[in-house]
Amino acid sequence: MDATRLYEISQKHMWLPFTQMKDYEEAPLIIESGEGIVLRDIYGNEYLDGYSSLWLNVHGHRRPEINQAIKEQLEKIAHSTLLGAANVPSIQLAEKLIEISPDNLTRVFYSDSGAESVEIAIKMAYQYWQNKGKEKKTKFVTLANGYHGDTVGAISVGSIDIYHRVYSALMFDSFAVPFPSASWHPSGDGQTAKEESLAAMQTLFKESHNEIAGLVVESMVQGAGGMHIMPPGYLKELERLCRAFNILLIVDEVATGFGRTGKMFAVEHEDVAPDIMTVAKGITGGYLPIAATLTTEEVYAAFYGDYAEMKTFFHGHSYTGNQLGCAAALANLDIFEKEEVVKQAAEKAEYIAKLLAEIAELPHVGEVRQLGFMCGIEVVKDRTTKEPFPSEERVAYRATLRMRELGMLTRPLGDVIVFMPPLVSSYEQLTRMAGIMKQAMLEIADSPVVAEQ
Ligand code: PMP
Repeated sequence: MDATRLYEISQKHMWLPFTQMKDYEEAPLIIESGEGIVLRDIYGNEYLDGYSSLWLNVHGHRRPEINQAIKEQLEKIAHSTLLGAANVPSIQLAEKLIEISPDNLTRVFYSDSGAESVEIAIKMAYQYWQNKGKEKKTKFVTLANGYHGDTVGAISVGSIDIYHRVYSALMFDSFAVPFPSASWHPSGDGQTAKEESLAAMQTLFKESHNEIAGLVVESMVQGAGGMHIMPPGYLKELERLCRAFNILLIVDEVATGFGRTGKMFAVEHEDVAPDIMTVAKGITGGYLPIAATLTTEEVYAAFYGDYAEMKTFFHGHSYTGNQLGCAAALANLDIFEKEEVVKQAAEKAEYIAKLLAEIAELPHVGEVRQLGFMCGIEVVKDRTTKEPFPSEERVAYRATLRMRELGMLTRPLGDVIVFMPPLVSSYEQLTRMAGIMKQAMLEIADSPVVAEQ
């Protein structure tokens, strides 16, 4: 099919996720192929993948070992159900996941997306307490500005106004405690923000622990909320509070897992052992829709018994534990091991920090936030007062469109430009991407368009 025809059909029949289709009409993009960290569109234009195709690609596109693993699996079988039956690569992958995750996690429950892995975590925690006879423990605590996916359960534990407000009548209630960000706290002081957040959490737990099933938090970094990083010691304290008040700690590693923050899982920064941990995105190196919810023997045991006891966990989809996805995930983890990818990523992250330090000096950069390969650059009108640009000017969005013209793809989060390239990116590619970001931000911030009437 030629490029013009593809373009016409995409305009006529497609409806893209998290996309205002008017924006897409004005700036369409159709990817046809990719290699390494380069994506190619139907016109042959090439782009560096500055957001890892939405935070998931790890070792680059068309990585021969992963392609090969999928082909070999395809010669055996593409899919069989996991309902009441296991399959070979899902078993092998479960062993690997348990090997690389915190020691207390011993069970793997598969799913197809990050949001679903969170839905499962919520249902699992809820039913865990039901099965244990603590029927009142039904509520969840979250951190304000969190994001855990777009399904109804996941948005109920999320609180990003623009994604969630419209669905408020559909959502179940949960408690939200302020995220300890120095930049949001009136004092601008991280320590005070941390202490206040922990104090609020402790008060809430003290008053309501009999009603609380679990605390759901993103691991170390609030991603979709704008790349906000937890201060040192904070997650560890949350773990301590959860233990003290008999509340399950549910850590969402969907965005942070698989080397993204410079550790295999971000909980390792704080040596935290969650009761439930969700993983997705990087699990297959960014190839196929596999996700998983990992938990402890203690949680698992509460679901085990005779069928008539009604303890079974009734969750699972048609494609759960898909063999092609599991085979890709195994090949992905194999590369992690053979090439010491996490160690390399941690080293490269230091170089990224240097590149970002230069960007931080630009006239319209309010703050740069980074943990490993997870970076956010906040664009502001005034560096000193941190006054934002009027939202209708969409400065960060326009900057990313300019980056596209200059040969790099990413997607902003409000005023924050996301920089999350694949871990395999070379030093030279990282430098090029930083150069593109710099140029685009300089050009765009000083030529704001007048908003449409
Ligand atoms: N949790 C977190 C922390 C995420 O960042 C995301 C997606 N960005 C999700 C869950 C949802 O994952 P998915 O898009 O695979 O459903």
